[in-house]
Amino acid sequence: MDNYCLMGNPVEHSKSPWIQNRFAELSGEPVHYDKRLVPLDGFAAALQAFRDQGGKGCNVTVPFKLQAAALATEASPRVALAGACNTLRLDGDQILADNTDGVGLINDITRNAGVALAGRDVLLIGAGGAGAGVLGPLLEQRPRRVVLANRTASRAQEVAARHAALAAQQGVELLACGLQDAAVTEAGFDLVINASSSSLKGAGVPVPASVLRPGALACDLMYGPAAQGFMDWAAAHGAVPRDGLGMLVEQAAEAFRIWRGVRPPSAAVLAELREKLAAA
Ligand code: NAP
Repeated sequence: MDNYCLMGNPVEHSKSPWIQNRFAELSGEPVHYDKRLVPLDGFAAALQAFRDQGGKGCNVTVPFKLQAAALATEASPRVALAGACNTLRLDGDQILADNTDGVGLINDITRNAGVALAGRDVLLIGAGGAGAGVLGPLLEQRPRRVVLANRTASRAQEVAARHAALAAQQGVELLACGLQDAAVTEAGFDLVINASSSSLKGAGVPVPASVLRPGALACDLMYGPAAQGFMDWAAAHGAVPRDGLGMLVEQAAEAFRIWRGVRPPSAAVLAELREKLAAA
């Protein structure tokens, strides 16, 4: 068996071990994946110990995503754009960093939800780690316009500036603003992504319903009961709600592909996970 793990703090409620071990079973890859609770000041030591034990790769979650990028010997362009890393591949002396969050969300929207993004108008709420990770892969889908709205407008502007060259290259209009301006800069959006932690914190939906065009897809990166408020809000205003469970499975699938060179059956595993959670 080749060993992989999740490193973070906290990790106890993570579904990553179940997802990755299910990918391994269904694809026949000799993979074992577990989770490691890493002391807040102990990420570098934990990573070295895992390498010494022959570990082949890991996912990295809060609060170590920046440290993981800093310890890498090589980082993908996705890491530079996102400013964070959630996947490390360990290959001899090499530590290769990547970020699969954004491509995970895009794969969930385009493959699992079947929504194409080319030429569409998109509102991305939140410019933290998740929002920054999503923006690059989103621009690569060539929507018409992306408005990045964040509670702290200057943070949205910083993240947008980092992506300006990619937006220009893809022919996408990219705007950054505070939350209060999200509704007035465009007459509604085809896709609204809540990549802020408003749902996690039990706060209300941070934008007015006028951002939703009829039939818009409205995604919250949160899943489980905490996402229900956003899902209900979207449905009540004529949008199609989607939670972040598909992104969770798809970002894991992209990590599995990076490690093993094999794309696991992510849609089947997402369906199983939804059933498992509903039963619980
Ligand atoms: P983060 O780096 O801490 O950023 C938090 C973001 O939320 C910031 O943009 C912050 O704005 C904003 N925010 C916080 N409270 C808010 C409120 N009450 N109203 C409006 N905006 C608020 O967190 P993150 O890593 O980006 O995570 C964001 C969310 O994505 C979390 O719910 C997380 O669980 C989820 N997530 C899901 C997946 C998945 O696979 N499904 C993966 C990654 C993350 P300021 O800049 O003004 O502080």
